[in-house]
Amino acid sequence: MKQNLLDLNYEDLKSFLENRIGIEEKKLNMRMQQIFTAVYQKGLSGFENLTTIPLDLRKKLSENISLNESKIVETHESTDGTLKFLVKLSDGNKVECVFIPEKTRGTICVSSQVGCSLTCTFCRSGTQRLVKNLTASEIVSQIMLVKNKLKDWTDQKIVSNIVFMGQGEPLINMKNLKTAIQILKDKRGLNYGNKKITVSTSGIANKISEAADEIGTYLALSLHAPNDKLREEIMPINKKFKIKDLIQQLKYYTSIVKEPIFLEYVMLKGVNDTEECAKQLVKLMAQFPSKVNLIEFNSWPGVKFEPTERKNIEKFSKYIQDKGYMSFIRRSRGDDVLAACGQLRTESEKKSKPN
Ligand code: SAH
Repeated sequence: MKQNLLDLNYEDLKSFLENRIGIEEKKLNMRMQQIFTAVYQKGLSGFENLTTIPLDLRKKLSENISLNESKIVETHESTDGTLKFLVKLSDGNKVECVFIPEKTRGTICVSSQVGCSLTCTFCRSGTQRLVKNLTASEIVSQIMLVKNKLKDWTDQKIVSNIVFMGQGEPLINMKNLKTAIQILKDKRGLNYGNKKITVSTSGIANKISEAADEIGTYLALSLHAPNDKLREEIMPINKKFKIKDLIQQLKYYTSIVKEPIFLEYVMLKGVNDTEECAKQLVKLMAQFPSKVNLIEFNSWPGVKFEPTERKNIEKFSKYIQDKGYMSFIRRSRGDDVLAACGQLRTESEKKSKPN
């Protein structure tokens, strides 16, 4: 079996080239630079095109290392320009990723698992059974494939930001997430800074300190309710990790990473959009640096929630701002092609039907 290059961070690729390909030590740094630049900055499609290295080495690399095993098999374009890609992995599983163009940036939303083990009641991905954690290469390849599609191989990055807000819970796939982020951040390669990457979690409290120490990007918490009772009703994961635990961990995160936490809050009509909720939310925000993103609820077939009316979202937002905290209303993108937050879903079925 060939080694997938996108599974190896810089150091691991270096030792692979030395020990398995037999590149001599004095040429190793040069070869590494040639390969990393060609793959991650120029979008090299195959080693046969890497003409800066000798032919016999090119051959050996082709025989032993694969570059990208995933494929885009479908593309859907929203009327707002958002692109949703269906990506087929080498094992036949499929995941979705989304590219969201904006005036000053282009954001890719990537998946971290096939399916999801959580069952957040408002999220369509939650109706899909967890099949597996994505490998590092399956995560990184989503970015590589979209960059390829958009011909994004110059210094002016079209894909300027990466958010782990697709299918799956990234912090449940910690090991591969860490490798993937090392690759994404590597200055010799894709070169995405800490402030260009956001990891979003439903609140896997016991993984947050590790993320602070070893990931270091922006962190978003899918909060969605300001008290345990309500949060438990809409997000079963809250039975395991309470808001108090989360606050403690987020204090640690912000002490290490020194950036505010983004609190994601999807506005569900009559559920979490009352003034009492806003009041509780503000109390929570007082405990660690944070900003709240109010998200319009995106509907999907079979869901029981309705979106809060715009004027009530604005009222909720103003309440938070008047208390001196930062609140933004996030416009929904791509919902006509089910590409918006919480609408991604591929094929695996949950045993029990969603209600
Ligand atoms: N599991 C991680 C990563 C997914 S991020 C997490 O929960 O953070 C996807 C974001 O979209 C989360 O904030 C999620 O709560 C939100 N979301 C889910 N369903 C939604 C819906 N129907 N409308 C709007 N946002 C939704």
